Amino acid sequence: MILKKTALFIFISLFILNACTEKKRPKEEHVPLRVVQVPSFNSDSAYFFVEKQVGFGPRVPNTKSHQRAANYFINQFKKYGAAVTVQDFDAITWDNQKEQLKNIIASYNPDVQKRILLAAHWDTRPYADKDVEKKDAPFDGANDGASGVGVLLEISRLLGQGKMPAVGIDLILFDGEDWGEKENEKSKIQLPEGYEDWWCLGSQYWAKHKHKKNYTAYFGILLDMVGAKHSQFFREGVSLEFAPSVVEKVWNIATRLGYTDYFVKTNVGSITDDHRFVNEPGKIPMIDIVHYESGVGFFGDYHHSRKDNLSIISKETLGAVGNTLLNVVYYEE
Ligand SMILES: [Zn+2]
Repeated sequence: MILKKTALFIFISLFILNACTEKKRPKEEHVPLRVVQVPSFNSDSAYFFVEKQVGFGPRVPNTKSHQRAANYFINQFKKYGAAVTVQDFDAITWDNQKEQLKNIIASYNPDVQKRILLAAHWDTRPYADKDVEKKDAPFDGANDGASGVGVLLEISRLLGQGKMPAVGIDLILFDGEDWGEKENEKSKIQLPEGYEDWWCLGSQYWAKHKHKKNYTAYFGILLDMVGAKHSQFFREGVSLEFAPSVVEKVWNIATRLGYTDYFVKTNVGSITDDHRFVNEPGKIPMIDIVHYESGVGFFGDYHHSRKDNLSIISKETLGAVGNTLLNVVYYEE
């Protein structure tokens, strides 16, 4: 009885206290409560990493370019002081081809329990099936793949300089994201056991075979097509469904940094991307920062075409995304 009364008293007191602090809270809720020194993202360097990947040629699984790019990522992560785990696995594609795939994981502050997961896919789609003329041609994937990886490599470089955030960081480069069914052709075979989709093979594999036993993260952020000129990032449906507070946090931080031209606080529909499988079955709340064209829909007209080359990549866009991410990571307590 007493306990209940006390509990009720505490509850009412907390309510009043809460109501008071609510009033006192400044209107500009994006102002951080403390000031943390955040390394500044170098967009020239991020652009260099995008250029470097394009230089390997299309990173299509089972090709030399794919292998060379993987070696490059592993070496760079090691050079920047990360603990690197490579997850090799085989997968069957919708057109019944056997691919040798690699998820590459770079970890910082490995002993810290509270972790943030940042990810992008590193493979390139094997054909430009949305190209107007050459639908079977390979393409550079400067934005679709290389841009997100470029931002993560720059973050790795900065983490390697020694000033660590309070949280642990895992950077995951997923393979096999982009070998999905063609625009006008469906698969004639059954999905292999353990897979729900022909897209996102690397994240589906990882979600069921984490690189570390019982691995989890506080939240995750996926980057996909984050480098095109004048890109905009709207609040995507799967992200809002599984990780609404992370969406809120990231878009608020971008607003505080002045990136309102890029990060638009408008909700849009859902897409299948690697974050879908990290959320479920992976059980880690993850959002997707992905290009959305106002009035058109997801991605831009370069998507899965030969237009997806370096000429569409902008250092400003890479910088807006990279600085936002660094602030998210370094402000996390
Ligand atoms: Zn793609």
